[in-house]
Amino acid sequence: MGTRRGQDATSGDRDGRGNARILYRTTSACPRCGASSPAVPASLEVRGDAVFLQRSCPRHGEDRVPVSDDAPLFEARLARYFRHGMQGRAPDLPGSLTLHLTDRCDLACPICFTAAGGRPDAPDPDLDTLEAAVRSTRTARVALFGGEPLVREDLDEVVRRVRALGREPVLYTNGVRLSRPGRAARLAAAGLREAHLQFDGFDRELGRRLRGADLVDGRAAAIEACRAAGITVVLEVTCAPRTTPGEMRRILDFAIADRAIGGVVFRGLGRAGRAAARKDRVFVEEVARRFEEATGGRATRAGVEAFDALVLAVQDRMGWPRATCLKNRVYPLLRTRDGYATPEELLPLAALAREVESDGLAFSRLPAMARLGLPALADRRLLALAAGIVRMLAARHVGSRNTRYPSGGGVLLVQIAGMCEGDSQDAVTARTCPSALFVGGRVVPYVSEGYPERTRGCIT
Ligand code: SF4
Repeated sequence: MGTRRGQDATSGDRDGRGNARILYRTTSACPRCGASSPAVPASLEVRGDAVFLQRSCPRHGEDRVPVSDDAPLFEARLARYFRHGMQGRAPDLPGSLTLHLTDRCDLACPICFTAAGGRPDAPDPDLDTLEAAVRSTRTARVALFGGEPLVREDLDEVVRRVRALGREPVLYTNGVRLSRPGRAARLAAAGLREAHLQFDGFDRELGRRLRGADLVDGRAAAIEACRAAGITVVLEVTCAPRTTPGEMRRILDFAIADRAIGGVVFRGLGRAGRAAARKDRVFVEEVARRFEEATGGRATRAGVEAFDALVLAVQDRMGWPRATCLKNRVYPLLRTRDGYATPEELLPLAALAREVESDGLAFSRLPAMARLGLPALADRRLLALAAGIVRMLAARHVGSRNTRYPSGGGVLLVQIAGMCEGDSQDAVTARTCPSALFVGGRVVPYVSEGYPERTRGCIT
């Protein structure tokens, strides 16, 4: 493990029974105590191939919840996270702010992680309250979330106010209402430039299981509406246990072929909302495994990690406050005439990453890195990729105005992500969460999704 700062890490510790290796000691919230319960001692532990959060509550005893099913990959990420992510982020400067605009929704997805529709009498926060929440942070991106934001009649006004504050409004939608006549155009006129569209692929039976409805044709219509309105689409794919690498490959091919699509987010499935009782989580490491298979081994897990190391090193070197999340990785694909190219096909990615991992991005190492990169510079595609990478870095530079996914360009930005589960968070990850959430009248770390009171308890 690498250097760890800001927490009481004791790498290599064994628990009292000698059958777990402790990565760090922390505090968390007991899942069985009430909302105002105090923090309880906890540790992040490796047991066999998996990683667990182990808690010890004086009232309810021991509790163990899985955090990852791939300990080596998790540990490598954690080392990088502590080396780069634990420093520098001001608590009041999150990477993005999520506004829950409503609990209402026109669908009732069995896996809805906000359990939308469960509080039919809950009022929607009014416009002035929402505006005050945005003003209270300096975040560049403002995620308009629900429930389904499009059920609000005044969504255009929300977009207009967020834009007027100089922030980037980003819509998260199931797309059902997006293709209605004039809807996307009105949002665009109000200032919307990026919409994240729930997208489960082309398997209608799988879609019905996940959403309770066949939405394949409706989503195609939503993409067309966004294209006509000039809104960049980012596909939000929930990788369920039955989402195969083959289906992910179809989604990738579809996205690569359509320049209205700026990105694809492949996100795992966690225990939250209506999926809270499920046992079959899909961790981010599993998403990365399937992504590697979906690309026929062209975008490897090692390549994704290496690219992440490069990005973090550059951000360190530039002194940018950064949005770093343990469960999120970005990986650009370069659109080519006959498909796409990956960074590891164009660059000696692993060697470059080894260079920066060994000593950050020290200027003394730049000549060695340049030598590694020189053969690749002969490939003109690299220049297009470099432009995309710069754009991506800017998007992750907290406070940057240039926060959008690439649109109409040569780069498709892929995100490989996990799901934040409120009941498996600890004080270390909660303190360093790069995103914020406005819920119940307060701005709290995003990791508290679904469990704001508990998580708040565990970090104070
Ligand atoms: S997942 Fe999205 S579309 Fe489905 S019920 Fe929840 S808020 Fe609605």
